[in-house]
Amino acid sequence: ERARSILERTRERENNSLGVEAMDLLEAYGIPIPEGAIVDSPGEAVEAAESIDGDVVMKIVSPDILHKSDIGGVEVGVPNDEVADTYGDLISRARNYHPDAHIIGVQVQEMADLDAGTETIVGMNRDPQFGPLVMFGLGGIFVEVLEDATFRVAPVSESEATSMLDEIDSAPLLRGARGRDPVDEGDVIETIQRISQLVTDFPAIMELDINPLVATPEGVSAVDIRLTVD
Ligand code: ADP
Ligand code: MG
Repeated sequence: ERARSILERTRERENNSLGVEAMDLLEAYGIPIPEGAIVDSPGEAVEAAESIDGDVVMKIVSPDILHKSDIGGVEVGVPNDEVADTYGDLISRARNYHPDAHIIGVQVQEMADLDAGTETIVGMNRDPQFGPLVMFGLGGIFVEVLEDATFRVAPVSESEATSMLDEIDSAPLLRGARGRDPVDEGDVIETIQRISQLVTDFPAIMELDINPLVATPEGVSAVDIRLTVD
């Protein structure tokens, strides 16, 4: 029900796309997300940051800005005493880039452990011929360079999701290359299946990308999402 109402609201928007506001949707499907809040003032940003352990990540939230880092809209590792200034910086960069952008505010988010983790992607595209194609691959900055991804038609069974993990070229990276601890494969597999379930339940979702889904030995965390509804 919660998922349904989030998607209904999205339909009423100009470009039918949803960014980090869709985090709630993931949460409704049991996919772990980092602690965080969307705020619309420097003061609230500081408050949000103080309730989170350690440094935070801050991101611009606007339906008109889909690739946040491209405009300097993501600041990683912000200490509490820089949160208020960073809030102002993010808003002015967004205004600069797109004077007419509708800016909802800024997301203040817990840091994911990228040192212990690997950035992966779980996504979905509706193919005119095959229907909902669920994608799994390596995420982050390597995604365009390596094009290391694999696809299955939803609904994706547990054994299919497992084979997706086996299939990508970077599988050794997830399994503990260079003395790193292997990531929690079970949680990755479960996330692929939960996304498969979400897009099966809601045919109106045309496209969806969790990029990155940070996978660590302790589990997974969906730190960024983007989706489009028809
Ligand atoms: P976009 O894809 O719109 O540029 P993201 O939210 O994906 O924005 O952030 C860009 C990059 O910043 C991510 O790929 C990741 O490397 C880093 N990042 C984002 N959120 C976090 C987080 N919570 N913890 C650690 N790193 C993060
Ligand atoms: Mg991203």
